[in-house]
Amino acid sequence: MIIAVAVNLKQLFKHQRNYPWPRPDTCPQCSAGGLWGHGFVLAYFDDLSGGVFLRRYRCPHCGCVIRLKPEGFFRRFQASIATIRSSLTRRLTGDRYLSGISVSRQRHWLNGLTRNVMARLGIHWRGRLLDGFECLIARGYVPVASSV
Ligand SMILES: [Zn+2]
Repeated sequence: MIIAVAVNLKQLFKHQRNYPWPRPDTCPQCSAGGLWGHGFVLAYFDDLSGGVFLRRYRCPHCGCVIRLKPEGFFRRFQASIATIRSSLTRRLTGDRYLSGISVSRQRHWLNGLTRNVMARLGIHWRGRLLDGFECLIARGYVPVASSV
């Protein structure tokens, strides 16, 4: 299970395993208290020159493993949601991509969005992809996921 929490990425990058992650009071699965530390997993994000360690906890009651991640990122995406949103907005309203990020990555986001919107919301959303982006987020989907 993954829980998104507010994280200062620069501080996390600097302090790594010593970063003061919050510890959930109770298990999100069974609501038991007393989660144990359960190591770290390495993850990568844009704007950092290397990986960062994300905290994991384990519930001794039900065995659930809980991984914390910085909020503001889609699962398996290194660019922030804000960056992806502004890339899509720029492309869909101005016919240009953001500078500083490769066009192939940004095209990948747009293709993913188009595919997800068509598959989950329907063809009549074709002209409203930016609305579809927000709508899919509200429904709990990653709107630019490469697989639908
Ligand atoms: Zn539990």
